Parts: sequence; C-alpha cells; structure tokens
Amino acid sequence: VTRVVSGIQPTGNLHLGNLLGAILRWVKMQDEAPCLFFLADLHSLSDHIPAETRLAQVRSMAAALVASGIDPQKAILFAQSDVPAHAELCWLLNGTARMGWLHRMTQWKDKSGKNKEGASVALFDYPVLQAADILLYQASHVPVGEDQKQHIELTRDIAIKFNQDTGTDLFTVPQPFIGGGTAARVMSLRDGSAKMSKSDPSDMSRINLVDSDEEIAAKIRKARTDPEPLPGDPELLKERPEARNLVGIMAAVTNESEAAVLARFEGQGFGAFKPALADALVAMIAPIRARFNELERDVAALDRILDDGAARANALGQPTLLAAKRALGLSRH
Ligand code: ATP
Ligand code: MG
Repeated sequence: VTRVVSGIQPTGNLHLGNLLGAILRWVKMQDEAPCLFFLADLHSLSDHIPAETRLAQVRSMAAALVASGIDPQKAILFAQSDVPAHAELCWLLNGTARMGWLHRMTQWKDKSGKNKEGASVALFDYPVLQAADILLYQASHVPVGEDQKQHIELTRDIAIKFNQDTGTDLFTVPQPFIGGGTAARVMSLRDGSAKMSKSDPSDMSRINLVDSDEEIAAKIRKARTDPEPLPGDPELLKERPEARNLVGIMAAVTNESEAAVLARFEGQGFGAFKPALADALVAMIAPIRARFNELERDVAALDRILDDGAARANALGQPTLLAAKRALGLSRH
C-alpha cells in the first residue's frame, strides 16, 4: 500500500453502512499508509441542493469523519471542490472513458431510475470524476464498500486505456480494498435486498450517526426479520437476508465472527437478539455522536482543517495533472 484515497458524499447523514464499510476502515489505514479522504461535494451536484445547505453539509460531514477517528494530522482531509484538479482531470479522462462503459454502471442504472432523459449529465459522468479523484493522487488502494467495486474497476480500465493511448505509464492502476463479511455491504433494515443508503427515503431503513440511543433501539426493534429462531451455523442464514444482515452487523460491531455471535444466541428468537444488538450499536455510536455534536459547532476549526487539507491535496495532485496535460499535448511548458 503506497497511497490510499477515498471519499464520501456530504449529502445526508453518515450511516452505519458508511461507518462499517468505509470510515472505520479508513481510521485503521491512516496509521499504515499516506491517506487522502475527501468530501465529494462535486459528486453531490448530480442533485440540486441550495448553496447554503451544501456548504453546511460539507462541514458537517467533516465533523462526522473527525468524530469517527479520522485524524487530520495523519490523513489529508479536504473538500473535493477545493482542489480544482479533480474537475480538470475528469475532463481529460472524459476523452478516454467510453459511453458503453458508463452505461453499464449499476449505480447509474439504479439512481437514474426510469427517467434517464431527465437525469443530470453529472450523474452519468460520476464514475469518471471518481476515476479522477483516485488517479490524480496515484492511489494504490481505494477502501470502499462493495457497492463501489464496479466504479473502481472502471477507474482501472480508464487508467490502463489512458496509459496505452498515450504510450506512458502515467497512472498507477489502483486496487479496490473491500472489507470482509456484512460490513462490506450493510443492508437496509426494511429490505434485506437493498443496501443501507443515505438516499433511501425511509429513515427507518438506516442507523444514522446522529440518531439518539432511543432511536437506535426503536429502529432495531422495528427492523424486518423472520419468525424463526437463530441457528448455530452461519450457513443456515443464507436464505434469510434480514436475519443474516442483523447477525453480520452484530459481528462487525462487536468484532467477532458470525459463528461466535450465533454461539451466543443459538435457539433464541429476535426478541432476545434485538435488544443486545441495540446495546452494542449504542455502545459504538454514542461516543462518536457526542464528539460530532461538539465538533460540528466549531465552524472555524473545521474550516482550518479543510483549508489545510486542500493546500496539501493541491500540492500532491499538481504533478500528475501536469503530466496528464503534457501527455495529451495540452501544455506548452
Ligand atoms: P448515496 O445513497 O447518496 O449514494 P451512500 O450511502 O451510498 O450514499 P456514499 O457517500 O455514496 O454513501 O458512499 C461512501 C462510502 O460508504 C463508500 O465507500 C461506499 O462504498 C460505502 N457504503 C455506502 N453504503 C454502504 C453499505 N450499505 N454498506 C457498506 N458500505 C457502504
Ligand atoms: Mg453511494
């Protein structure tokens, strides 16, 4: 691992899926390699949001990341729009990416829904901007949830084609770095076939960082399950997606294997399991939430962190942007 880059959209609340699939893994990696983590506010342009809302969301997500353990002294934490090279490199890579590649992206298919003609160009081009986010810093590893695997593969295709087309080895071809078990893909509490998501209209579908202890308990109590008791063998959860999700969340939160969780609850129903899961979640989330509430109020401190991060990211990205422009005949100097 020579360099780690990953981002999160600042729209909506940080949720359990983001925490387990991405953020808490970022926190571990910041001690092991040079890391850049960013608030993807340019990606959020695919939906119309009032200007002051977007600004507030960027600061709020920065506070959420620091509260979760991202240390801006160790990792570079910044807002994507503060580093113009992301957008500039995206445009250069638009010459490399193919329409057919983007049409195959499941995120595009899901988020554009039935109204493809009404979707923004930004939503369609999102994976190319994501490729720019990563390639600009010559990232070797991109820690993401399972849902982003296809985009990282596209990033690899873009890097390889750009290098071939220009006869260079300009871009490092990055690896997706996806965690194991349920943490890689935390499912909705209302629907075991959909991932937990910021953009799910139902707030009952997810546990948010800002939820109170009571809200967490209520959401788990109402989470969809089945009437069967829990088995001793994780294999027997295969056909029970909601049950498997809750057991997997417990395992990720308490840092145990699913088999170890099931050994504690074998033969018991969800009436016994759910309160224990709620307690484990509260124990993990309450301290992060408390720090978040503190940090969110100090706008000046957050802006200092983001300004400092932007300066460092700008400096790191410049040589690659310049090399890419040279390789395309866009720089006379
Ligand atoms: P949106 O619905 O707006 O796309 P999101 O919940 O998918 O929001 P993102 O900002 O797109 O959040 O993703 C941030 C990171 O969280 C990515 O690395 C993504 O893979 C990861 N992630 C998102 N949802 C989950 C999930 N349910 N389980 C595990 N990881 C997830
Ligand atoms: Mg997403």
